[in-house]
Amino acid sequence: MMTSRSEPLFEQASQYLVGGVNSAVRAFRAVGGTPVFMRRGEGAWIEDVDGKQYVDYVLSYGPLAMGHAHPDVVRAITDTAARGTSFGAPTELETELAMKVQAIMPGIERLRMVNSGTEACMSAVRLARGYTGRDRVLKFRGNYHGHVDALLVEAGSGVLTLGIPGSPGVPAAVTETTLTAPYNDIDAVRQLFAEYGDTIAAVLVEPVSGNMNCVPALPSFLRGLRELCDESGALLVFDEVMSGFRAALGGAQAWYGIDPDLTCLGKVIGGGLPTAALGGRADVMDWLAPTGPVYQAGTLSGNPLAMASGLATLAALSQPGVHADAVAWTARLLEGLRERAAGAGVPLFTHQAGTMFGLFFTDSDSVVGFEDVAACDGERFKRFFHGMLEAGVYLAPSAFEAGFVSTAHDETALQHTLDAAERVFADL
Ligand code: PMP
Repeated sequence: MMTSRSEPLFEQASQYLVGGVNSAVRAFRAVGGTPVFMRRGEGAWIEDVDGKQYVDYVLSYGPLAMGHAHPDVVRAITDTAARGTSFGAPTELETELAMKVQAIMPGIERLRMVNSGTEACMSAVRLARGYTGRDRVLKFRGNYHGHVDALLVEAGSGVLTLGIPGSPGVPAAVTETTLTAPYNDIDAVRQLFAEYGDTIAAVLVEPVSGNMNCVPALPSFLRGLRELCDESGALLVFDEVMSGFRAALGGAQAWYGIDPDLTCLGKVIGGGLPTAALGGRADVMDWLAPTGPVYQAGTLSGNPLAMASGLATLAALSQPGVHADAVAWTARLLEGLRERAAGAGVPLFTHQAGTMFGLFFTDSDSVVGFEDVAACDGERFKRFFHGMLEAGVYLAPSAFEAGFVSTAHDETALQHTLDAAERVFADL
């Protein structure tokens, strides 16, 4: 077997970085083998340290909606950096990005920029509790809202991948006020509201779940949540860190036509630089400091490089037809994969939400909850993952992660992926 430079690099990294990585899921624990070290990316493609090329469906776990190193984004970042990287004072770029987000998601009347999706969700919880004067929050099994103590209960992504039920270090007192229900099960939510309704500050939901593979909410489920929140006075918080600018340009809230009270944004909003945001109804958002009493702050929040990167990304993505073309491309990818899987006798179910997708090795044609995802053939996924990696297609190293498409994914990338899949399916 050919040796890769990734192996010594990972060995060295592991002596200095915990597990050799800075985010748990990157370590390939769920699929086995050595994580591949990357050195550059352009458009739909990334190149590893051996010079091997891959079509990239990870896209940094979602942010790179325009693909790697998009010229507008690179120019915006370098031009901005040349004028200083951070001021700790207001800049016009922050307002420009907020205006752009509001134009795309009109339900977001006011924004607060933060540095990660975790921060956005953490602040959403605090704000909802402060605003409503209530303590309980309700979340769903298999939904992930970052590594926020109170939300690290039955969470998705790495928590599922690593089989950690919650996490040591989270005091029971902190999660006592966290209620959980099965995803897409409105009756279970109704029961919880019947019992606890007047103490629930917020319902947090991924309207398209991207942390138990990719599972879109049933429209009736989201409508039911909206109604229960309206009746009880709880705030409905859409965690659109993944689905924002992806499920539709205007996020899942546009796709479903349902307005949450608060929205958590991340990933695409920074176009590959670290920024995220909490936004929503002005009367609720204005409870944040300095206009309101709920404290929230950040040294690098609204960082100029991240604002410039996000603005350039959203400007390019919101040009007429650009997002729609990527959605159509994603549909062709899934159709092609299903065809080739069927040709090889491999049962494959797929979900698509705009430029997000999920692949499920199952005969079932109903994947709506965490249990459905967990019941898929994990061993087959591992072999598929490694086969595709070998063939030059980079997928997330876990069956609990969503796939992502960029506007740079073209005919060449499509053909390369489908040819690879055909060979890999034949060996499954
Ligand atoms: N919410 C969702 C829906 C996410 O997918 C993620 C990250 N995958 C987060 C929150 C946390 O974001 P971050 O990793 O930027 O803290």
